[in-house]
Amino acid sequence: MSDKRFWVRRPFDYAGEELDRGQIIELKGARNDEKLIRLGYVQERDRNGSFKECGVCFKRFVGEAERNSHAEMRHSDRYHGMTAEEKEAAMEDEVDRVEKRLDRDAPLYFDKTEASRTAGEGSTVIRTAKEIIGGSKRKEIDRAAQKRAKAQTGRVRSKSKPAAGRVARSAGR
Ligand SMILES: [Zn+2]
Repeated sequence: MSDKRFWVRRPFDYAGEELDRGQIIELKGARNDEKLIRLGYVQERDRNGSFKECGVCFKRFVGEAERNSHAEMRHSDRYHGMTAEEKEAAMEDEVDRVEKRLDRDAPLYFDKTEASRTAGEGSTVIRTAKEIIGGSKRKEIDRAAQKRAKAQTGRVRSKSKPAAGRVARSAGR
């Protein structure tokens, strides 16, 4: 059997589909497939390995935790009842949390070939990888965060005091 199965270590878009962590896929022989393997976006797996299937969209995942996290992200209305502002805040927190977890659990492989290509500047490569994962979304969220920080100065007393840094930053604008 020559067709190999892979699972997604780091979420990325592939052939117009947003892949989630733990999702089982077949690579389609695209130009960048080799790079996805080399950098650690996907990892090869046993074709006959066990899997957990999503009950809603029937995508397959390497384990229950991965399947559940996909279902929560894709099929539950977890922002229900939130204002647009709260939703933006929740999304921002989520992006941070997911990025931290991925950097810890599934760091990308920046091998010597990649490093030498950028003249030893590892940071350049890392920034590029983050852009691949969600550059445009990231920027949108950053803008939302700025707006929120501004808006917050008007109701500082409502809850616990915001961090001093945030107040200082907002006041400076
Ligand atoms: Zn699903």
